[in-house]
This record gives sequence, structure tokens and C-alpha cells, in this order.
Amino acid sequence: MYFRLSISTLFYRLVFWLFISAVLGYIIGFIWQVIALTCLFLLVSHYRHLYLLTKWLWHSKSLSPPQASGIWGLIYDGLYRLIRQQRKKQKVLNDKIRRFRDGAEALPDAALVLSEDLSILWGNKKAQNILGIQWPGDVGQRIDNLIRFPEFSKYLETGNFNAPCKIISPVDHELQLELRMMPYGSEQLLLLARDISKIHRLEEMRRDFVANVSHELKTPLTVVRGYVEMIQSTEHALDPHWQKAFSTIEGQVSRMGRLVEQLLILSRVEIQIDHDAREVVDMPALISGLIEEVSWLNQEKQHQIEVDIESSIGIMGIETELKSACANLLSNAIAYTPKNGIIRLSWLRDGTKMKFSVQDNGPGIKPEHLNRLTERFYRVDKSRSRDTGGSGLGLAIVKHVLHHHNAELVINSRWGQGSEFVIYFEQTSQREL
Ligand code: ADP
Repeated sequence: MYFRLSISTLFYRLVFWLFISAVLGYIIGFIWQVIALTCLFLLVSHYRHLYLLTKWLWHSKSLSPPQASGIWGLIYDGLYRLIRQQRKKQKVLNDKIRRFRDGAEALPDAALVLSEDLSILWGNKKAQNILGIQWPGDVGQRIDNLIRFPEFSKYLETGNFNAPCKIISPVDHELQLELRMMPYGSEQLLLLARDISKIHRLEEMRRDFVANVSHELKTPLTVVRGYVEMIQSTEHALDPHWQKAFSTIEGQVSRMGRLVEQLLILSRVEIQIDHDAREVVDMPALISGLIEEVSWLNQEKQHQIEVDIESSIGIMGIETELKSACANLLSNAIAYTPKNGIIRLSWLRDGTKMKFSVQDNGPGIKPEHLNRLTERFYRVDKSRSRDTGGSGLGLAIVKHVLHHHNAELVINSRWGQGSEFVIYFEQTSQREL
């Protein structure tokens, strides 16, 4: 239905009433009095409808407006139509919200909708169960006031939500949670919390298993190596055939020993960092020490090692771990670069970051391998790596160590032209020496 009330319609209606009353007044001889009475009647009628409209709008619970004919009837119908349209829209919106909530409740994860300033707007039941968020009591509270873990505060502070953050549930200390934050809508954030206790326990079991097996293998290996060395050093020279067999056994036992050693290091660095064990590590001294230590490794290859240590900056971290990471990169460069190569080692400032770099002019690495180098046991060329005594665990150890130190490994390499392994340390880990 469409009704259009124009100024001319109003004007003609008024003229019509005045004309009728003028004619009537003329007939009975009271023209002005009748016109005045008609105006009064019109005024009273409009005031009455204004009163009814106000009463209906503000006090009535009924959806249907007062009954009227004429212009006021059309006004009431128009208002009624608007209200019905509004109600329909509201219903559609409510259905949508209900569907969203049902969906969010059906999620196996805890879900919280946060505003831009991190205050809670909405959460599902699971969020109450595993994050201890009360609904609707905690609505409007900032999430970092309710989940008080240093890891989580740091996660929010960095604002880098690409990787998840792991915390223990504030409600049940047996539960391990993985939190993921993502943009949601135009100015909101969605926080999803998943219970990863089972995966965590399995991971722990795997780590313990590897660590225990490696530990148990150490003793038999030492015994075998001892006996082989004893036999090799007997006064009576062995038959050349046996000599070869024993030196092969010795080589393989040493290789296995190195593998066991690396597996033990890996299971040690895989666990969370003990923040109390951190201290200021004198990186220039650590690197100088490393160069001396690897000189025996370099005896056969005779590489030219160029060093550029410019800065007197140390790193807040665990010395043994940092040493193991740097040593791995340096020993790889020595091992994979053909004889008489050039290896450049540097500890320099790069913008706000500190950069430890090992560059070689060895064979380089094809681009398709670069992303997988830090996987456990990943080797580009298995037979070559085995010849160099590699286990494929070195860069996996480096990755975990760097994770503990909030540092990043960047590998630049061109097939046939050499490689550069760079560790970038954030400004927050740097300390003046
Ligand atoms: P590995 O103990 O076998 O050296 P790593 O994890 O240290 O294991 O290295 C993984 C692989 O990356 C190696 O097998 C090797 O193929 C490659 N790689 C590492 N460093 C270099 C390098 N400087 N030049 C060429 N290849 C390298």
C-alpha cells in the first residue's frame, strides 16, 4: 500500500471544510461563528489523535495502533507497517545470531569474540569450561585480565598471531591449551582455544622414548668402541682383512655415537626453555672459542676462515644451546664446502637486530630443499651427508634453540654458488657487554 500526502491535498481538504462551513454559516446567518467552530473541531480532532498516538507509542503493549479513518488512519497504518517490517528484520537477525551461536557451541574448541581493545564480547560454553570465562559476568572485561600467563601476555604484546600460543588451562592445570587469535569481522578478534593435552602427552612420551633409548644406547656403544680400540692397539698386528673390518666397525660405532649424542641434544632442546637458566652470553667470545674448536675439523679441508666480529653485544640466553646452534652452522659449512673453500663468519648489527652469519662458497642448496632443511633427519644428499658424518639432526637442533631465543634462521643459497645461514636475534634479547 502506498499513500502520498502532499501540501496541495492538505490545502484542498482545509479549503473544502472552510467552504462547507462558510456555506452552512451563510444559510443560517452565522458565517464566522460556523467557520470558527469548524476550525475548533478540526483542532480538537487532531489533538485527540496526537494524544492517542503518544499513548500507543509510549504506554501501550499492543502492536496494533488505535483505529481511525482519514489521514490519521493512514498514518497509523504506515506506522504499523514499519513496525511489522522491523519485527521481520529482527526475527531474521535473531535467527542468524541463533544459528551462529549454535554453530559456535557445537565447536570442539573454546571460542571467544573480542573487541579491538581485547575486551570480551561473547564466548561459548567451552570457553567457560576450559578458560574459566564467566558468561555474561565477564563480558566487557579485558581478556589479559582474566588469562594471566606471561606467554599469553607476550603473545598479545607482539601482535603476531601467525603461530599459536600454548598455555596451561587456568581452570584445570592438567589441561594444555593451544590458543589461536584471528581477525573476525571488521574490528573484532576471534580467540580459539583447543585442548591439546593428549597430543602434548604423546609428544612428551615420544621425546622421553627417544631420550631414554639414546641414553641406553650410550653404554653399549662405549663398551663396543672400547673393545674395538683395545683390539686395534694389540701388539700383534692383525691380519689386514681384520684390520679393515675393525676400522669399519670403529667408524660406524663413532657415527652411531654422534647420532645418539645429537638425539640427546635434540630431546633436551625440544622441551620448553627454563627462563631462570638464561644469562648474558658473550657472543664475540663464544664465536672466537668456536673458531679455535673447529680448527681441527678444518685440518683436512684447509678452508680459509674469515671472521668479522664488529659488535660488543651479547645475547640473553643459554650458552650451551647457542654454542651448539652456531657450531652446527659452522661445522656444516666446513663439511659441505669442498677443499680450500672460503668461509665467512660474522657477528654484526643489522638494523635493530643482531646477525650471526656463516657464509660459504660450497655447492649451495637447491630452492626446493630450503624449506625442509630444519626437519629431523632431512638431508639433501643422503649418501654425501653420511660421508661427512651428518645425521640430519643438526639444523633441527638449531631450529629449536632459536625458538627458545626468539631468534630466526634465514637460509640464502644458490645452487652451485654457496650458501649463507643467518641467525637474527631480536633487540629484546640483546645485551650490551
Ligand atoms: P647433517 O647432520 O646431515 O649435516 P643438518 O640438519 O645439519 O644435518 O643439515 C641438513 C642438510 O642440509 C644436510 O644434509 C646438507 O645436505 C644441507 N646443508 C647444511 N648446511 C649446508 C651447507 N653449508 N652447504 C650445503 N648444504 C648444507
